[in-house]
Order: sequence, then structure tokens, then C-alpha cells
Amino acid sequence: MMTIDDLYRDYPAVLPNRNEMRFLDGWTRVLEPLLRELSEAGNAYLVMAKEKFGEMRVLLSPPGDERFRDSVECLRLRSRFTCEHCGKPGRLRRRSDGWMFAACDEHSHGVEPLPLSASRCIRWEGTGGRWRTYEYDERDGQVTITGPAGDEQ
Ligand SMILES: [Zn+2]
Repeated sequence: MMTIDDLYRDYPAVLPNRNEMRFLDGWTRVLEPLLRELSEAGNAYLVMAKEKFGEMRVLLSPPGDERFRDSVECLRLRSRFTCEHCGKPGRLRRRSDGWMFAACDEHSHGVEPLPLSASRCIRWEGTGGRWRTYEYDERDGQVTITGPAGDEQ
């Protein structure tokens, strides 16, 4: 399994201090495509990546950079379907005390997955009535993006 340390070997210029990488190795591959994009862009980098409510959240510099919006939402969605422990296909789960996490069956500690309908879709809403929808297909792991024409600036 690819580890966070591997990311520091491959993308040192776009990564923050190690203690701003607050997630487990299973999500390394979820984050990697964004790091590749940041490296190619050249003038942007990751400020923080963390687990929150069972999904990966990232902060970038410059903040809210529209160029990376799709990648940021896609990784957030993919993380819900990737075991944070081992990187295998997983599902979003919620313990009885409300704690949410993404895990495969093996790392689920017996917690049942949430219904697919609760986790496979993210709707992004911007200013001026702009929106975009990201939908995860659990069969092939692809994310379909839909948004109104003329959304790009
Ligand atoms: Zn696992």
C-alpha cells in the first residue's frame, strides 16, 4: 500500500508540514491525483488534509482556487468509499455515538455501512446560483460531474 511517506518522496514541493496530514495511509491514493495537479500548476500547494465526518477534507493555497474545485470534491467523495485504514473499497459508516468513518468490512468493527443514497452524492453550491453535482458510481469508482453550462469563469 502506498503510504503518506511515499507522497513526501514524490510530491515534497506541494505538501505541508507532516502534522497537517491528519488521515491514515489508506487514503493516500485518494489524495494523489490532486497532488499531481498541484505540482503541474506550480503555484499552488496543500495546506492541510484531514479526516472529518468520515471523509477527506483539504485546504489549499491559494484558498478556494476554482481550478481545483472538481478535484477537491471528487477526492472528498472518493474518500467515503475508500477504507482509511487499508485503501480497499469501503463505505461510510456511523457508530452509535455518531462518529463517522470510511472503512471496508474488515476494518468496520462491525458497524454497518450507511445507505448508498446517504453518501454517493455531493452538491456544490457557489455564489450567484452556481452549482455542481458529483455522483459516485460504486460499480466502477468513477465520479460523474454535472453542472450548468457557462459555469466556468
Ligand atoms: Zn480496510
